[in-house]
Amino acid sequence: MDRIIVTQSRCKQCGLCVAHCKQEALSFSAVFTEAGYRPVQVDDAKCIKCGICYLVCPDRVFTIIGAPGGKASAKQSASA
Ligand code: SF4
Ligand code: SF4
Repeated sequence: MDRIIVTQSRCKQCGLCVAHCKQEALSFSAVFTEAGYRPVQVDDAKCIKCGICYLVCPDRVFTIIGAPGGKASAKQSASA
């Protein structure tokens, strides 16, 4: 993948992605969402674009841009 997009308004601060990111690239923002959560943010300098956060997030927060092999694509985490 080329890039990962975080839709912070969907984040419920469950911490699953933070616990699974081996790069420690994820943290909680200091700014609250309208729903009252501190959403996840990505440190691009640490992120290796492994996609684990996309796989574990139950709230479709992550969208990945670009597929292995270079084909342009976009998909969003599967469950709501
Ligand atoms: S893509 Fe991988 S390295 Fe980047 S934030 Fe997600 S889990 Fe961490
Ligand atoms: S797994 Fe999804 S909902 Fe949970 S903290 Fe991470 S981004 Fe937010």
